[in-house]
Amino acid sequence: MKKRILTGDRPSGRLHLGHFVGSLQNRVKLQDEYEQFVLIADVQALTDNYDNPEKVRNSVKELVLDYLSVGIDPQKTTIVVQSMVPAIAELTVYYLNLVSLSRVLRNPTVKSEIEQKGFGESIPAGFAIYPVSQAADITAFGADLVPVGEDQIPMIEQTREIVRKFNSLYGEVLKEPEVLVGNFPRLVGTDGKAKMSKSLGNCIYLSDDSETVKKKVMSMFTDPNRLKPTDKGTVEGNPVFIYHDAFNENLGEIEDLKNRYREGQVGDVEVKQKLFVAIEKILTPIRERRKRYESDEEEVNRILSKGVMRGNEVASETLRKVKQAMKISYEFIK
Ligand code: ATP
Ligand code: MG
Repeated sequence: MKKRILTGDRPSGRLHLGHFVGSLQNRVKLQDEYEQFVLIADVQALTDNYDNPEKVRNSVKELVLDYLSVGIDPQKTTIVVQSMVPAIAELTVYYLNLVSLSRVLRNPTVKSEIEQKGFGESIPAGFAIYPVSQAADITAFGADLVPVGEDQIPMIEQTREIVRKFNSLYGEVLKEPEVLVGNFPRLVGTDGKAKMSKSLGNCIYLSDDSETVKKKVMSMFTDPNRLKPTDKGTVEGNPVFIYHDAFNENLGEIEDLKNRYREGQVGDVEVKQKLFVAIEKILTPIRERRKRYESDEEEVNRILSKGVMRGNEVASETLRKVKQAMKISYEFIK
């Protein structure tokens, strides 16, 4: 039997090139080797978007189109909408008894997000405990492996703790997942900030059209100390060259551009134009697939329905075992 992996995203906007190198590429690769579940975590998205449910709703469709357009294959990967699998919410409630409030609030990922989102004194309780609901996601589908970025490691550690606690209290029911750390570091933003991120407005989105991508690439930050093309430039840490390394398949061209940049023999415009071509080469087939799915809404709905059905099959079986182990399965009540 193939090992299972669980990944997913909160539907709260479109996916960008950071997501592409950080996780999507990996998922397309992993789906051949593993039984993959990809969770569209709308319940989790509501923990910090509860006042904007429209945004979450609209993002669900965007997200599934992003997935299908990068090549996540619904024949190989099960795409599951979280809110349609109530067993996950139910598992969350049971797991909440197995962690202390202070442990949840100590979670470094949550801590930094709370700061970043500026909740102040009014942290929604649902937000604070979302690592517990992630433990429910992971265990509901019996994931052996969870592919994540470095920043997510504390989340999986929390899940492992919950699993161990559950199993020691109620018997060996849950699988303890392993972390699979992706090998791509954080992609910088087009503005050179440490991270391409929706809220920083420095993203190239997978669904951007050609014109938009061109504008974004041509206005990217480069070496701030280089004022004219004849100045010697620095390649290291330079966003345009980081992108060349990430997206340009033509290694010879990258080498040539880097050499000439260091020598002051190439202008930013040429470097950016070549980067634009390289990114377009990646985005063109993605756009084509997106267009195909956009024009076939029924097919997308079928994919989602099938995913939800399979998701419910697996998750409700986990829930059944969990309740039985906890001695709260009342077969005598019909
Ligand atoms: P927001 O601004 O709303 O936080 P975001 O663009 O930072 O949005 P998230 O939804 O926070 O995106 O990202 C979810 C996951 O995607 C992260 O945990 C990380 O694994 C991956 N990711 C996001 N941005 C990048 C990036 N620039 N490079 C690599 N991976 C990324
Ligand atoms: Mg973020």
